Amino acid sequence: MAKQKHTGITIRHSRSCPETNKAGACRCKPTYWTRVYDRRAVRHEKNCPAHDGAPCRCTPTKGVVIHKTFDTLKGAKAWRADAQVALRNGTMRAPDRKTLREARYPSCGYAALSPV
Ligand SMILES: [Zn+2]
Ligand SMILES: [Zn+2]
Repeated sequence: MAKQKHTGITIRHSRSCPETNKAGACRCKPTYWTRVYDRRAVRHEKNCPAHDGAPCRCTPTKGVVIHKTFDTLKGAKAWRADAQVALRNGTMRAPDRKTLREARYPSCGYAALSPV
């Protein structure tokens, strides 16, 4: 059976799943990992004060990959479609509150996004 390809969506199986080791059919509940690229977004360097709302003191990188994991392919596809429209219209926001909170941490670029 040919593997289905879904653009922009990666199907992730659990590590013990036979599918992961190409040893057989899936026996886990895979998750669907999808991402979109926001080329208008700006990502600041790790220790840039901009993460805390202070003026930027780094050389920000343009373009941020926004990713999200879903339990269903349907959900992943729907979010990706929405996100792409939002990116085109310039109305993309952090996907949810949790992401905003995580934005306090330097590894995430969201705090650095300019307010919409
Ligand atoms: Zn699996
Ligand atoms: Zn900065």
